[in-house]
Amino acid sequence: MSTPVRPVRVDQRMVPVDGQSLGWLVMTAAQVGKYAYLNGDSRSASHVLDLATELGAALAQADGSPEGSVPVGVLEELADLAEATADHVERDGWSLCDCGEPHGEDNVDAGAAAVMRAHAALARALCAPGAAGSQERG
Ligand SMILES: [Zn+2]
Repeated sequence: MSTPVRPVRVDQRMVPVDGQSLGWLVMTAAQVGKYAYLNGDSRSASHVLDLATELGAALAQADGSPEGSVPVGVLEELADLAEATADHVERDGWSLCDCGEPHGEDNVDAGAAAVMRAHAALARALCAPGAAGSQERG
């Protein structure tokens, strides 16, 4: 397999993320991955699935405690990918179904885009300076 292409993470901070938010972020990563894969963007799909892996690892390591610890870069990269995917849905016609038959998928896709934007905002809020637990500013 080829080496994944990744931006180098210059911000090494870890931030606390509560379990419910972690669950939503894993869901969003999966949703973004599905849209990216089905609409021909395998690079974004691969990237966001790596983020899902990191978020899942944070959940597993939390092991029942009320919050996990997540690299800021994971949150920022997920927010970028979720917003880009919402843009593709709204502007470029990305869809979970491209059969061409109208059967309500426009509503599903619009709803999914709105949820991805909301969770991108959540990810950005979690990594904003001043959030509890931030340390070692670069
Ligand atoms: Zn269809």
